[in-house]
Amino acid sequence: MVTCIDVAVAGGGPAGAFTARELARAGLSVLMIDPATWRPRLEGLGERVAQLLIAKGLDEALAAASAPLPRHVTWAGLNSTANGERLVRRHVFDEALRRAALEAGAQTRQARLGRILKSEENEGVLLKLSTGEEVRARLLIDARGRQAGSAQRLKGPQTLAIAGLAQEPAGVAGTHVEATPEGWLWVAEDPDFGRWLQISIGADDLSGSGQVALQGRMSRFLAQEQLAGRFSDLSFQDPLIARAAGLVLSAPRLQLPVIPVGDAAVAIDPLSGHGLFWALSSALSAVPSVLTILENPEKGPQLAARFYRDRVVETFWRQARTGRDFYRLETRLSGNSFWGERVCWPDDAPSHPDVSEIHLQQRVVVDSNRLVEREVLVTPQDPGGVAYVAGIPVGDLKPFFPSSARAQPPPCTPSPALKAAFGWLESRGLLHGSLSRTQQHQTKTRETA
Ligand SMILES: Cc1cc2nc3c(=O)[nH]c(=O)nc-3n(C[C@H](O)[C@H](O)[C@H](O)COP(=O)(O)OP(=O)(O)OC[C@H]3O[C@@H](n4cnc5c(N)ncnc54)[C@H](O)[C@@H]3O)c2cc1C
Repeated sequence: MVTCIDVAVAGGGPAGAFTARELARAGLSVLMIDPATWRPRLEGLGERVAQLLIAKGLDEALAAASAPLPRHVTWAGLNSTANGERLVRRHVFDEALRRAALEAGAQTRQARLGRILKSEENEGVLLKLSTGEEVRARLLIDARGRQAGSAQRLKGPQTLAIAGLAQEPAGVAGTHVEATPEGWLWVAEDPDFGRWLQISIGADDLSGSGQVALQGRMSRFLAQEQLAGRFSDLSFQDPLIARAAGLVLSAPRLQLPVIPVGDAAVAIDPLSGHGLFWALSSALSAVPSVLTILENPEKGPQLAARFYRDRVVETFWRQARTGRDFYRLETRLSGNSFWGERVCWPDDAPSHPDVSEIHLQQRVVVDSNRLVEREVLVTPQDPGGVAYVAGIPVGDLKPFFPSSARAQPPPCTPSPALKAAFGWLESRGLLHGSLSRTQQHQTKTRETA
């Protein structure tokens, strides 16, 4: 028997479970496939993720994370506690998100996606699960994380992370990041979960395989002179976990009927602490893509392909260059091979594109959970482009730009939304009548539409 469904989701990690939940809430029939083989582990969860979970009513998932804790950083010769992070028990977090998908009406199968038997843009996919079941779907969300198969990979220097739970109890709750000649160390102290240590080294900096090799490599790392014997007596409770952790652009182009999300699209270096945010935000942006493709088979695929490419490729390069800049801060260690490789990849371009000229551009954006083409305003402060200001499409505000051929003064009694939009335009030096002569001279708008 073949199960027929609107959307199949392969993978029930944060990206897959969240996509499945949002698609089910949008009224589609959804089947989420995941083998349920997780090992307890800790990760850091940033405030943007917490805010997104609250906004989406996912309090139960957020309850898998601690309150914000201090994050001590020993990097580039400095000791600081500038930012905080929450500690999240990933197995509990993922389970809560999967439950939310179920509650929203998604079906689930405890299985692996075995093979994609058929994949045609106009006809959808036919899948074979590890249980033998066959599933036909109009679209497949690929959320299998780094295990997603892709022939299109682009990689930076590859990193191996080795992590485990220490035998000794946790100290004061918080996290600690430290740069060392062989790579970097992340220690998370969670009084209820324990003391979690994770080292990040070059992917080829491990000889042998299996637990003995991992334990040996962890001990050698922790015995580095710089760590001053702080971890030399440490032993670990469970087998250590080794995971690939480098930045990978897995799928730069959308090849329908498959839509990759999360790590299956771009897998992010854990140093950024951005992985969970990307998993959830890419899941969120897959929803308008799916709805637009299914409702508008003529134009939807092309809009989705442009929308996907802009987001995924931009995210990869921004993450690559931001990571490089962070590694570059550690000038004392650049003579070591781990650091030497990372400070010169991918290039010397700035992490955020330099916008010297304010201009309008035609882009694919989300409107009422569907993809549409709109003008966006690109400014030095908003290099990613702004499509709406206070809910008003930027294109509708063009008559108020000083360079507009038919420039108008703002109305005497603007609506509250228009008033807020004018405030924003003014902050960008773009409001008719509010610019000084010099500003007007310097501020040009270029319409690329
Ligand atoms: C060592 C390390 C530390 C990290 N630390 C942080 C951190 O502190 N903060 C942060 O924000 N991010 C961190 N990240 C990144 C974060 O873990 C990932 O970005 C996030 O898990 C991606 O979510 P995902 O759903 O895309 O993929 P995953 O979480 O990998 O989920 C993929 C799911 O697919 C399932 N699956 C695999 N194959 C199949 C198949 N054939 N069929 C069906 N299902 C399948 C798996 O069982 C899994 O449930 C870290 C990453 C690493 C490697």
